[in-house]
Amino acid sequence: MATEYAIEIEDLRKVYKGRGGEADKEALKGVSLNVPTGSIFGLLGPNGAGKSTLINILAGLVLKTSGKVRIWGFDQDQNPRQSRAAIGVMPQELNFDPFFTPRQSLETQAGLYGVPKSERRSNEILELIGLSDKADAYARTLSGGMRRRLLLGKALVHHPQVLVLDEPTAGVDIELRQMLWTNVRKLNEEGMTIILTTHYLEEAEEMCDEIAIINHGEVVARDTTAALLSRIDSRTLVILPETGTDAEIDLPESVRQERRRDGSIALTYARHDVTPGELLDHVRAAGVTIRELATEEPDLEDVFLELTRSR
Ligand code: ADP
Ligand code: MG
Repeated sequence: MATEYAIEIEDLRKVYKGRGGEADKEALKGVSLNVPTGSIFGLLGPNGAGKSTLINILAGLVLKTSGKVRIWGFDQDQNPRQSRAAIGVMPQELNFDPFFTPRQSLETQAGLYGVPKSERRSNEILELIGLSDKADAYARTLSGGMRRRLLLGKALVHHPQVLVLDEPTAGVDIELRQMLWTNVRKLNEEGMTIILTTHYLEEAEEMCDEIAIINHGEVVARDTTAALLSRIDSRTLVILPETGTDAEIDLPESVRQERRRDGSIALTYARHDVTPGELLDHVRAAGVTIRELATEEPDLEDVFLELTRSR
């Protein structure tokens, strides 16, 4: 059975009750979000935005205060078993049993999910996460990176349709990051829907088909990665001058001018306000002749700033 949306979230709220006189914390303030089946979906936001709370509610690790969650079409309250079986979660925190080997960890996890012995595929998973040669080593002898890979493996034991990764690359080295992304792409190509949280903006830009930006427990933007990028209004025109390097260019007030080390002049402008043609007129009027010309697209950092600044 395939559904249009692998995950459907409706008006999800979470209030953590304050203990010992502390104030209550409203971590999610009515989040609604649909994740298309087959996509790699990015949940982006700064620390404390509510990403892990959302993920942990999906995983059944945190109880929601109110709202609806459907996973693979199964309502979390009405069909808790089926909705749980459809999702695998790689948590943000490293939690592992030092006395288990990777193989034992995978087998135990499979047992928890009621996967019959004949349907277990520990060897295949060990291969995928690159731990075949460490299959029978005690977990305490594994490096941090290996432990993270094991967490990914544990999320996969019950063949979930949806895989959720909570900040999988926070604090990991480049090699492990590459390996995780290779794995994630492979699983996605095989049909798995992927949700990942990150505050690495380039990562979301590179990996995700669609992105939701969450801040202070609210979704502030939700679109395809390309559309989100196009929504931002600022562009940068980079001019490498032939002559007139030090000329004073008289520009509209809204344009930001920056001289770069390589001798180029970077003009950042709002598209609704100024056209590149007008900018070039000002540049030529100052006696600057142009050797090279380039435009720079905004990255997700700009998008994020633009979308959250007003809140
Ligand atoms: P993120 O993963 O985006 O960094 P979290 O979901 O971890 O955000 O946290 C969202 C907010 O909820 C934060 O203000 C955090 O301090 C608070 N919070 C998270 N977990 C708990 C908890 N168990 N008890 C109380 N407050 C919590
Ligand atoms: Mg988190």
